[in-house]
Amino acid sequence: MEQDVKPVRTLMGRLPHGADLLEALTDLAHREGVKLAHIEALGAVKRARVGYFNQTKRVYGHLDFPHAMEILNLTGNVSLKDGEPFVHAHVTLADESGHAFGGHLVPGTIIFACEFVLHVFDGEALERKSDKRTGLALWDPDP
Ligand code: ZN
Repeated sequence: MEQDVKPVRTLMGRLPHGADLLEALTDLAHREGVKLAHIEALGAVKRARVGYFNQTKRVYGHLDFPHAMEILNLTGNVSLKDGEPFVHAHVTLADESGHAFGGHLVPGTIIFACEFVLHVFDGEALERKSDKRTGLALWDPDP
């Protein structure tokens, strides 16, 4: 499945020091009334928590990095879940020796500094619904 979307605006800015990264992005989407968007960001975190989906057990495991790391890249999108703006983002992080780790962004990643670009689109709303085959909340789930 796919659909045409039309770029309507681009927001650039900085997220607050000490805020939770996923919550700050979700707050931004709510505040700006964003329903369809692509997110890019970079910066640094004080600590990080990411998820890894176990496809056999169909549950997320979590990885904690309780130290400062660089955000090499954050890529995400905004769509709707239960009628509300929902941020899905993945991050690549690097430690002091340059080793990279990453995963599905979950609450518990705390911002040291973060610069974002939010590309907002106009188009038919994409709504996340429970997908039987994967156990994930996906766009246009398999019947
Ligand atoms: Zn994910």
